[in-house]
Amino acid sequence: MTVTPVPFNDLGRAVHAQLGNLRQITDAVLTSGWYVHGTHHAAFESELADYLGVSHVLGVASGTDALELAMRATATPTRRTVVTVANAGAYATCAALAAGLDVRFCDVEAETHTLDVNSLANLLDEGVCAVVVTHLYGRLADVERIRTLCQPLGIRVIEDCAQSLGARTPQGMGGSLGDLATFSFYPTKNLGALGDGGAIATSDDVLHEQLLALRQYGWTGKYRNTISGGRNSRLDELQAAYLRFRLPLLDAGNERRRQIIARYAEVAPRTVRVLPAEGPNHVGHLAVVETDAVPALRDHLAERGVRTDVHYPTPDHHQEFLAGQARPSLPVTERLAGRIVSLPCFPELTDDEVGRVCAALASYPGR
Ligand SMILES: *Cc1c(COP(=O)(O)O)cnc(C)c1O
Repeated sequence: MTVTPVPFNDLGRAVHAQLGNLRQITDAVLTSGWYVHGTHHAAFESELADYLGVSHVLGVASGTDALELAMRATATPTRRTVVTVANAGAYATCAALAAGLDVRFCDVEAETHTLDVNSLANLLDEGVCAVVVTHLYGRLADVERIRTLCQPLGIRVIEDCAQSLGARTPQGMGGSLGDLATFSFYPTKNLGALGDGGAIATSDDVLHEQLLALRQYGWTGKYRNTISGGRNSRLDELQAAYLRFRLPLLDAGNERRRQIIARYAEVAPRTVRVLPAEGPNHVGHLAVVETDAVPALRDHLAERGVRTDVHYPTPDHHQEFLAGQARPSLPVTERLAGRIVSLPCFPELTDDEVGRVCAALASYPGR
């Protein structure tokens, strides 16, 4: 008997459940005669700003573009270095290189896998324009402590919220805690489009003005190219319309993700540590576990029809695109990279599938 595997993700399920609405939205945009920066785009920007509790949101073409433009907005002729973590898929590093900036890596905490604030102070100086703090796997990092270190030095804090949209603290939503925040609407994100998309949030009016120009040719008015480093990076009308429809569904999807991870945590053997995703400061983007024996665990799960992945296997400072540069020592980042496995976690997983993952996990040696 062949059993259908539990997929790592299946984007088609949400689309099928929403097909009537999505067709209606598509039809309305198609026949509107307006395809870029129209009414849906403006409405989505303001609805997301309200949701986050910030003054401004700007739609852009992707999460990586959001990072690149946010970095460009913080850089000056003398501040040309971005500090970030090396365990978050290299998106910020890729964006910094595209912006012509240097990257300096900070280690992460063993407990949370997010930026280790205790290692940060030594990395900051007057050449740093921004610290990019990634809310990895959906969990908010300690932005307040990072800001306390950065503010006196004139360094901006950029929250990378690509994995954490909807996460909140008593002080406010993730995305409202730094100077700038970046978002991705890549289809697998918690708020996914049906194509590429991204956004930048800020409550700083000056940064907002600068970003308006940077995302559209450096324009400060139609056909007035004022700022250099400008790009064309726009969120199209169709994606904005889909995102408006999906934003009100986000919180329920995030709650389902947290519940799935809680089930895994209940049944995991002693040899597998499920990173907790319990409170509202975590939106369960990925269900990540730690183990001494990654290949053995992945084989065990695969034999029971459970698909897994690794986020991310190679730290940024070991990637080939930085081969020419001095390699820092990041002991925690390096150790964790060899210990992580991601389990299926998306809102449309059925209870039966979650049960199958649990059974497979529970039967792994180490109870
Ligand atoms: C997905 C992701 C990005 C990049 O988003 P794209 O829209 O794919 O460019 C950036 N940062 C993190 C942490 C991500 O997970």
